[in-house]
Amino acid sequence: MIAVAVNGYGTIGKRVADAVSLQDDMKIVGVVKTRPTFEARRAIEQGYPLFVNCAENMPAFTDAGLKVEGTLDDLLKLADIVIDCTPGKVGIQNKPIYKSAGVKAIFQGGEKSGTGDVSFNAMGNYADSIGKDFVRVVSCNTTGLCRTLSAIDKKLGVKKARVTLIRRGPDPGNSKKGPVNAIVPNPPTVPSHHGPDVNTIFPDMKIMTSAVIVPTTLMHLHTVCVELNKNASVDDVKEIFSNTPRVILVKASEGLTSTAEVMELARDMGRTRSDLNEIAVWDESINVVDGELFYIQAVHQESDVVPENIDCIRAMMNTVTDAKESVRKTDDALGLKKWW
Ligand code: NAD
Repeated sequence: MIAVAVNGYGTIGKRVADAVSLQDDMKIVGVVKTRPTFEARRAIEQGYPLFVNCAENMPAFTDAGLKVEGTLDDLLKLADIVIDCTPGKVGIQNKPIYKSAGVKAIFQGGEKSGTGDVSFNAMGNYADSIGKDFVRVVSCNTTGLCRTLSAIDKKLGVKKARVTLIRRGPDPGNSKKGPVNAIVPNPPTVPSHHGPDVNTIFPDMKIMTSAVIVPTTLMHLHTVCVELNKNASVDDVKEIFSNTPRVILVKASEGLTSTAEVMELARDMGRTRSDLNEIAVWDESINVVDGELFYIQAVHQESDVVPENIDCIRAMMNTVTDAKESVRKTDDALGLKKWW
């Protein structure tokens, strides 16, 4: 059993903890909070040992009546690996703590790519992370792009990809961020950071990205144009996506006309927190014109990176060396689309 700690129990951390708990080869030995919030209380109710990031924050938990098992340092003594799910740029500050505790660490996409020895995408470059001590799972948007582009690249060859990312403002549980009534080029520069981030997984892929943020919380949406090396029909592309892990086809003709209905589908599927770990590609959007492929996909930012974190644990702990085997095991435990 791999002993897993989660440092930073927010949007991503609580989902990763729940996903770890569903696997038969790993278990949660503790989660770390900085403040005694409802999420800290829920962690205890779910049976996760609760730890605090530093001793000086401990009294606030005691005052709130929450039982704390110790500090991050205490937790690291129990863990084989820590999943750092703290806000962007905090993970890099934690790296020396993990290093001196001799514990492997996974960082998230909010950290710079150099924070890990390598970046990770399960079907993209699993093998690169085998046995590594520090790895960064790429962001939700980069994960979405890697999933579909790698599938296309393997079968048809990507000569060049151009992507416009329409990004959500805040996550649904965040009442402090906007935009409320604006469309924000973010970053304002082209390429956005997403293309270079895809290159941390596929160094040779020619990709150009630009991004805007809009007033929505549900999902990101990508419009993708790909110049192909091989001729392909629309049906060929649909077949590729149908057989790709963690990608689903959705039909506007069945009422899935926007990200709102796609999220409703996730609710109807009984997914925890209405998560959709898979990337949703609109069936009708797939087109091939003069050797160029077009499609539109939606990315559930809060959950698509969760299965990748699970696979990354197995790669770094060197318990499963075959990417497909780990992905199948993870997807089976999480009840995701059957692709095998
Ligand atoms: P979040 O703000 O929802 O959660 C972060 C948690 O870490 C909070 O509970 C916060 O209190 C806690 N925290 C802050 N400082 C801490 C510290 N020093 N020690 C321990 N805990 C601390 O953030 P999130 O959305 O879960 O993002 C976490 C990481 O995942 C970031 O790198 C982010 O870029 C990345 N990510 C986020 C999303 C998303 O859509 N939310 C998607 C993919 C990747």
